[in-house]
Amino acid sequence: MMSGINKRSKTYRLVGVALSVLLLLVAGCNLVSATYGPYYVFTAYGRAHGVGACMDGVLFRAQDGHGYLDIINAYYSGVEMGKTDDSQPIKVKCKDGEVRTYSLHDYLLQLAEEPDDYPYEGLKVLYVIARTYTLSCIQRGKHAGQGYDICSSGDCCQAFSESKDLSAFPNNVRACEETAGEIITYNGEPIIAAYCGSCGGHTDSYQDIFGQEIPYLQAKPDAFCQKSERFMETAILLTGELEALFDSHPDTSVGELTSLNLSGRTPGGRLREVAINGSEGIKVISGGRFAEILGFPSTRIFLIASPGEESSLYYSSIRGRVEFVEGFRVFNE
Ligand SMILES: [Zn+2]
Ligand SMILES: [Zn+2]
Repeated sequence: MMSGINKRSKTYRLVGVALSVLLLLVAGCNLVSATYGPYYVFTAYGRAHGVGACMDGVLFRAQDGHGYLDIINAYYSGVEMGKTDDSQPIKVKCKDGEVRTYSLHDYLLQLAEEPDDYPYEGLKVLYVIARTYTLSCIQRGKHAGQGYDICSSGDCCQAFSESKDLSAFPNNVRACEETAGEIITYNGEPIIAAYCGSCGGHTDSYQDIFGQEIPYLQAKPDAFCQKSERFMETAILLTGELEALFDSHPDTSVGELTSLNLSGRTPGGRLREVAINGSEGIKVISGGRFAEILGFPSTRIFLIASPGEESSLYYSSIRGRVEFVEGFRVFNE
């Protein structure tokens, strides 16, 4: 367990990386200096739910030479490998709303989850996970009530595109066929092989995010996705701007902002709830709602500077390096 102090210095280092990235992104923009004022700095890590395999972590593990079975074991606890038949029929609700039947093999090939230059061992991980996940949807009857096995949405099931031109994805095709029939099992059954774009440095258990205890989906640290450019996002808001943002939604409107309580978290660091305290009372919202209001892709959000922390080392070290560009804010060294 890291101490609070170590956690903070780690955060600062990561922010430094982001600052250089942002600096590169805005190079050439006409930066407008403005009066510096008390501001809140929020950083969000990762994207989506953060349960199971982290595909950015898979990418960098594969790039570092890890084999696909090692990578699978890194994200799913106590699992074994099993076999299924790739010729079995799958009823897919396609993007046009029609339900069409594909073989498991053909369904998997039309998944639009990772590009063809994704590291090859990572693609093998993807196809084993996707094959397993598909079977678990059928087994759980996820969409059985609607008359099909799986839908085309990456947010609900897996991103499926009938228009994907397979000739442009030779490595995807090879990875699917080289792992033909391979699935991940627990107690002999295909696992719910949950995966997300990026865990932001720490996955969470299925129970903490979706409410059901699943022994092989536990919270795990993941240092590998930190190498991804989309590992973190930062938002900087003046107190008045944050107040105005909260004020524009009935469920967060509290008048003058006095404090934010971001202590309600999962073991993986995702916000369960946020208490917003202001002159007109307290509003408590879910972490998901808080992320939505701030425009972040994950609930693994940390408040890394606030007006009340003006004397902190971090705050003083970035003071004077913030510039305000019309419409958005960037760090500028
Ligand atoms: Zn679905
Ligand atoms: Zn990760």
